[in-house]
Amino acid sequence: MTVLVVLTDTSTRTEQQQAAALTQRACGEVRVHTPSLLSTVGDLAVVDRAVGHLPQVRHVARVPGDYPRASVQSRMGRPSTVALGRAAFGPGQFTVIAGPCSVDNHDQLMEVGRAVRDAGGHALRGGAFKPRSSPYAFQGLGRRGLDLLAEARRVTGLPIVTEVLDVRDLPAMLPCVDMLQVGARNMQNFALLRELGRLRTPVLLKRGLAASIDETLMAAEYILDGGNTDVVLCERGIRTFETGYRFTLDIGAVPVFKERSHLPIIVDPSHAAGETARVIPLALAAAACGADGIIVETHCDPAAALCDGKQALPTSRLPELIDGVVNVARAAGRTAGPMMSERNDRHRELVLTGDPAGTVASARVRWR
Ligand code: PEP
Ligand code: MN
Repeated sequence: MTVLVVLTDTSTRTEQQQAAALTQRACGEVRVHTPSLLSTVGDLAVVDRAVGHLPQVRHVARVPGDYPRASVQSRMGRPSTVALGRAAFGPGQFTVIAGPCSVDNHDQLMEVGRAVRDAGGHALRGGAFKPRSSPYAFQGLGRRGLDLLAEARRVTGLPIVTEVLDVRDLPAMLPCVDMLQVGARNMQNFALLRELGRLRTPVLLKRGLAASIDETLMAAEYILDGGNTDVVLCERGIRTFETGYRFTLDIGAVPVFKERSHLPIIVDPSHAAGETARVIPLALAAAACGADGIIVETHCDPAAALCDGKQALPTSRLPELIDGVVNVARAAGRTAGPMMSERNDRHRELVLTGDPAGTVASARVRWR
């Protein structure tokens, strides 16, 4: 069992060495993560007896899996915050990443980017390198896609979130990207995780299709262990026996991640939904269950999308989505961070058309 020893921030080097030496003597092994965080594998009572009485020790605790740095105990229950552009993932905030599954072409990305900004999104997603089940399916525009993402960032002011498949692409990606996404299929690509740990670019780590909560946290630990503390987790649905939708959105995992880890967690309703009509209900569930935000796929012309068009929310429905999640998140005690579209002197108002009791025909944001 992993046991943590958290030292006071004011402990001296000698005090840290003393705590490490006593832990090592008691358990035969000690790992020094930061000057104020040690861990070992052993018995809680044994470690507590060895170092619990020292004045420089704040707290000795057991962690349910082997992820000392990701554990909620390592920060004494204080959730961490990861900044992205003007927004952030963390306590009290609800942050929306939206954009196409893949960067298809110039006009598509600019149009979607402007729609995301105008509807009040905080960041733009879009894959330039796509992990596809078939090697014959569209694999993304690659480097050309990165150039388009850089242009979309200039045009919209939104930070960019995009998936990294291969460490060899990182030098080309880093100048164009504000947050690197690790896809579900790569959650346990440990060489990739180690490399991302060496960077200081925020990482969005998606839960694997068949990964347990603790396996996901150990994957996050690989990145944290390298010294990159800006990790955001993402629940995107898992494989179960159910065939009624694409993946089972494990909404119950969100509070469990929060019990076990200080890392922010967001929800991807799109890949679980598999179909457009289910995206907004799942996004609302994410906002209600305490997630720190969502990442959602949207397209200006879903029928023409080169990837995942079936689940893409038309950009015309983004205001309805964002207003909905912001309202539900507010009920759950959170507010949306600053939006790129926000102007201090203006008031945001949602204008809906259609049958007020039934289907919304259109929704747009009006600034007054
Ligand atoms: C994606 O975000 O487009 C994607 C491929 O997601 P996932 O890795 O969760 O399937
Ligand atoms: Mn997709």
